[in-house]
Amino acid sequence: MNFEVLTLFPHSLEPIFGASILGRASAKGVISVNCTDIRDYTKDKHRKVDDAPYGGGYGMVMMCQPVVDCIRAVKSRLEGTTRVIYMSPQGSLFNQKKAEELTQYDNLILLCGHYEGIDERIIELEVDEELSVGDYVLTGGELPAAIVVDCVSRLIDGVLPASECYSEESLQNGLLEHAQYTRPRVFEGLEVPEVLINGDHAKQRRWKEEQSRARTESKRPDLIAKLTENKDE
Ligand code: SAM
Repeated sequence: MNFEVLTLFPHSLEPIFGASILGRASAKGVISVNCTDIRDYTKDKHRKVDDAPYGGGYGMVMMCQPVVDCIRAVKSRLEGTTRVIYMSPQGSLFNQKKAEELTQYDNLILLCGHYEGIDERIIELEVDEELSVGDYVLTGGELPAAIVVDCVSRLIDGVLPASECYSEESLQNGLLEHAQYTRPRVFEGLEVPEVLINGDHAKQRRWKEEQSRARTESKRPDLIAKLTENKDE
């Protein structure tokens, strides 16, 4: 899968995409992540990419010309299916289900806004979908884009060592994951639950399922309500 991140600050993202699991997946060629500097597409002699908003108000708005030209140029060199996503606090909330949906595309173009955001006509002309990472406002779309790249990448074959790494994880089946422990067996008087040590795999599976349900009920009762709703439907 290929990710194209369009941003005014490509250098802020490159270390994130080059490190750890994402870096290794890119090196293996399982995913590719390219960051394009929107400023390279401005036709303004001072490399300007933003201007004051019509109607007044604070801050600056990213202009149509450089952003639209940048999206079109990147799109024109891609093969296969492409989805253009604008990272925006006004978008629908990004979640695990949306991440799964996005794996069906060959390319995701993730547009990062900055300042007061982007001219609305860019969305009308070139954007397929707006996605928000939460009900709060950040200074730019770079961190949200990195969240989408990271979360979708984990679902691509070959990025993690086995599909169980994500299929048994929190939220994948609508529930939170059970508690996890590693050595030592006792730490500051706190012991690892006996069931995880006794080697009875059926019992361990049952314990994990019960834990998962109980933790979801106590930490995220809204998820249980959603599961019940979906079952009823
Ligand atoms: N004026 C805009 C509004 O009220 O909707 C907010 C602009 S915000 C300060 C600047 C940029 O950060 C946005 O264009 C968007 O790309 C990004 N951004 C901020 N919060 C976000 C969120 N929760 N999810 C996704 N992107 C976000």
